[in-house]
Amino acid sequence: MRLKNNSIVINIINTFVSNQSENLYDDPIVGFSEGNDPLYLFLKQDIGDFYWTPLEAYNHEYSSTTHTQLSVISFVFPQTKKTKSSNLKEDRYPSYEWSANRLEGQNFINNLMKYLVKELNMLGYHAMSPTLHENFRNMQSKNYGYASNWSERHTAFISGLGTFGLSDGLITSVGKAHRCGSVIVNMDLMPTKRKYASHVDYCLFYNNGTCDACIKRCPANAISKNGHDKILCRTYQRDIIRPYSNSKHNLNTSSCGLCQVGVPCESGIPIKNS
Ligand code: SF4
Ligand code: SF4
Repeated sequence: MRLKNNSIVINIINTFVSNQSENLYDDPIVGFSEGNDPLYLFLKQDIGDFYWTPLEAYNHEYSSTTHTQLSVISFVFPQTKKTKSSNLKEDRYPSYEWSANRLEGQNFINNLMKYLVKELNMLGYHAMSPTLHENFRNMQSKNYGYASNWSERHTAFISGLGTFGLSDGLITSVGKAHRCGSVIVNMDLMPTKRKYASHVDYCLFYNNGTCDACIKRCPANAISKNGHDKILCRTYQRDIIRPYSNSKHNLNTSSCGLCQVGVPCESGIPIKNS
């Protein structure tokens, strides 16, 4: 039954993708987790009390009485070769294709989440997307600075899709250059097995110190052996990239992504040299 439900969800996602006229992304990977996975509670304790567990997110839309078994659906859409290649040529500002895709691509992800919610509702389930909910907010974490009350990348990590890298990106089987989204549903779904022991397993730096490629790709010096400096990154994106993208491309976005391309984890899980 659970596996059959997983197939229903995957079919809905595939139908949505195949009905698109333009391929903004390559084929997605999809993962599932249980709504009561202890890692969700761990995130709440680690990031801050404002962080939603799946049940808390769900309760913003539906009353607790409707939930029997909550599951979380997470999907990751890899950037196309064309979008990645265009950004690879850049070393200070993102390419036109990258910036345009940030805007159009997020619309695509949002529309998919809405479609998935609608289709699951039509099948008689209660579904919602935390990041589309009116109560979704950016917040300040005591431990991590900039944060929000739901993280798509952390959800993908819990749902078996990948682990974090030195640059804070999520390294998946289709790489780190991607966009992701999620939906919570009161449907019994088979969780995806996490094939990793720690949250940084796939990063070569954290494994054996053999990689510093993302450090070199960052024009803002926001990545170092100490990790990703969110304040430097955000300041660069806000003060340098947004004005540039607006004036050069007439695109109102601060997306950078230079650290997501030209690195061993760009398009897959990098191979460890022991
Ligand atoms: S480029 Fe190297 S150090 Fe940076 S996240 Fe990827 S594997 Fe880790
Ligand atoms: S997004 Fe841009 S500024 Fe931020 S860490 Fe990556 S390369 Fe640096």
